[in-house]
Amino acid sequence: MKLSFHGADRDVTGSCHRIQVAGRQLLVDCGMFQGGRELDAENSEPFGFDAARIDTVLLTHAHLDHCGRLPLLVKAGFRGEIICTAPTAELARIVLLDSARIAEEDAARASRRRGGADVVKPLYTRDDVQATLERIGRVVSYNEQLSLAEGLTVSFHDAGHILGSASVLLQVEEEGRTRRLLMSGDIGNRGRPILRDPAPPQADIVVMETTYGDRPHRSVQASVDELIEAVDATLKRHGNVVIPSFALERTQEILYYLREATENGRLPRSLPVFLDSPMAVSTVEVYRRHPEFFDENAREMVNGGSDPFSMPGLRMTREHDDSIGINRIQGGAVIIAGSGMCTGGRVRHHLRHNLPFERSAIVFVGFAARGTTARRIIDGARYVNLFGSDVPVRAQIHTINGLSAHADQAELLRWHAAAGGRERTILVHGEESAMEAFARLLPDVPVSMPEPGSELTL
Ligand SMILES: [Zn+2]
Repeated sequence: MKLSFHGADRDVTGSCHRIQVAGRQLLVDCGMFQGGRELDAENSEPFGFDAARIDTVLLTHAHLDHCGRLPLLVKAGFRGEIICTAPTAELARIVLLDSARIAEEDAARASRRRGGADVVKPLYTRDDVQATLERIGRVVSYNEQLSLAEGLTVSFHDAGHILGSASVLLQVEEEGRTRRLLMSGDIGNRGRPILRDPAPPQADIVVMETTYGDRPHRSVQASVDELIEAVDATLKRHGNVVIPSFALERTQEILYYLREATENGRLPRSLPVFLDSPMAVSTVEVYRRHPEFFDENAREMVNGGSDPFSMPGLRMTREHDDSIGINRIQGGAVIIAGSGMCTGGRVRHHLRHNLPFERSAIVFVGFAARGTTARRIIDGARYVNLFGSDVPVRAQIHTINGLSAHADQAELLRWHAAAGGRERTILVHGEESAMEAFARLLPDVPVSMPEPGSELTL
C-alpha cells in the first residue's frame, strides 16, 4: 500500500491524498488550496499524478478545501466514480457551483481590465462543475460497506464536522490478513447541535487532521451566551446586528441558537432575522431534506413537527431586491450574510449601512484570515474600504471564538484513542507546531508527519 500526499503546504488548507492499493488508485478528497493569500497559481498547477488513472474519489465532505479541485480533476481526464454521502453530494453541488460562478466573474473582470473578452480564463466553469457532478456514483450511508475491488472495501463513518461529513475506512485483504486504514477527513466536536458526535471505527493505520492539535477551544456554551448577549444588548440600543457568516454549517448553527433563544425567552419571540444569502438558504434546504443525518435532539424536533432552523421573525432573502430592502432597516434586526471574511458577497452592503453607527454591532463567528476586511475590523481598524470609499467603524465589534467546526486538542486525542492507529499514525492538515505538539501526546504510537508532495509505503 502506498500513500501520496498532494495537499497544501502547511500555512494554507487543501486536502488531497492518493492511495495505491489492490491494483487501484484512489483519491481521498481533491480540495482547493485556500488561505489568506491569493492561491490561483497553486490551484491551477498540475496535480502531480495522472488524473485519468484515478479509479475512485472518496469525498469526505463538501467544504471547498476538500472538494474544490474536483472539476479540475475531471478536466484533467478523471473518468472514475466519486463516492460520498447524500448530504455531501447535494452540498458539494452548491459549493462547487458557487466557486465556479466566482471564478467566472473574476475572470470576466480581469479580462475587461486587460481590454478584451475572455483574455483571462476562469479556473473552471459551471459546465465543468456539471460534468463533475455526473461522476458522483454510489451515494452511501454511514457504516455501509462497499466493494472497490477484489479484497478492498470502503465504509464512511460520521465525522461530526458538517452535515454528511465522514471519515473513510479502507479494509484491505493482504496475504491472509486484513489491514484497516482510516482517513479522518475533518474531525468535528462532540455535543454540537444538529450533528451527531464523531464516531471513528478502529483502524491499524490512521491518517488524521491536526488543525487545532496544540490548543483548546473556548466552551461552546460560553460562546453561545456571548452571541445571545451581544444580540440582546444591540436590540436594547435599537441597533442592527450583522453576522458575517459562512453559508455552510456555521449559519445553520447560528439559526439554531437564535431560534432556541427566542423560544426560551432570552430574545424576543418575534425577533426579525434576515438570512440574506442565496447559498445559505439552499444549504438550509439540504439540511431540511436530510433529518436522518441529525442528532437525536434535532430529529425529535423534526418528528414533533418543528423546524430547528425556523422562528416566527425569520426571512430568507434570495432575491437581490429583497436584500436591498434590508438596507432601509435602521435597527432591531439580525442580519446574517456572507461572506464570512467579508471579502465579497452581500455582507459588504450591510457593513456599509451599519458600521458607522455606535448602536449597531458586528458579530464575527468564524476564522478571519490575514488581509481580509473581517480581519481588519477585528484588529481594530477605524476605517475600512467598501465599494471604493472609507467607511468609519463605530459599531460594537464582537469576536466569538468557540464555534469552530474543528475538534480541539482534547477532542482530537479522544478521537485518536477510539480509532487506534497503533501500527502507524500519520498527521496531516495542520501547521508544523500544532502537529508536533499533538505528536508529543502520542508517545507509544509510531507517528509520521509527511511533507506535502511526499510518499509513504506501508
Ligand atoms: Zn471541513
